[in-house]
Amino acid sequence: MSETVERHAFGAEVGRLLDLVVHALYSEREIFLRELVANAADAVDRRRFAAQTEAGLALPPDVKVRIRADKDARTLTVSDPGIGMTKDELAQNLGTIARSGTRAFSQSLADAKPDERPSLIGQFGVGFYSAFMVADRVEVTSRRAGSDEAWTWASEGQGEYTLAPATRDEPGTDIVLHVKADADEFLEPMRIEHIVRKWADHITVPVTLAREGE
Ligand code: ADP
Ligand code: MG
Repeated sequence: MSETVERHAFGAEVGRLLDLVVHALYSEREIFLRELVANAADAVDRRRFAAQTEAGLALPPDVKVRIRADKDARTLTVSDPGIGMTKDELAQNLGTIARSGTRAFSQSLADAKPDERPSLIGQFGVGFYSAFMVADRVEVTSRRAGSDEAWTWASEGQGEYTLAPATRDEPGTDIVLHVKADADEFLEPMRIEHIVRKWADHITVPVTLAREGE
């Protein structure tokens, strides 16, 4: 590993939340894809909004959220041309629990009996951490619109994450999931398409699934 890789511990609450999400919602784990696509679409909307007042942030033509499965590498990637995150934003947004919704979700899950937990999905967005239900490693490479710098946040969901300099040609974010051995289904284009279609109504940005080799 390069010397420029920084290691950071998750806040104590993040570790607890990750555990809760991964174990309590296991039977509903396909929702991770809804959460990642929703985040990608939000990021596109935020860039569109920011571009109204800030020069140089305009979205490229043909904006879409791209999903790509690579069975050989066992990765599932969700990419967006949205607002992106700076190094500090990666650490803040993915490494701490600053948002009240997440804290409330964490508290509700902790208070709920096991059989009540799945229903909490409908009440709270479980968000980014739900990726760890299907992935044993998650890498987020992001370049903030208006910045030349890109950074990769990476974690195995086990108490720490790393931040390292990266490159990305355009602003936006790639979320790369290293799919768990027991989650092969999420590398199948038909399965992915089915999940996306189920939730597509709520998504305001076109979503495409890249064919193998593309
Ligand atoms: P929520 O979407 O409810 O805020 P999440 O856990 O899903 O919670 O995401 C946490 C935060 O991480 C988001 O609020 C956003 O700031 C940031 N984030 C996640 N995914 C992306 C993305 N693809 N592009 C830019 N920011 C993102
Ligand atoms: Mg979200």
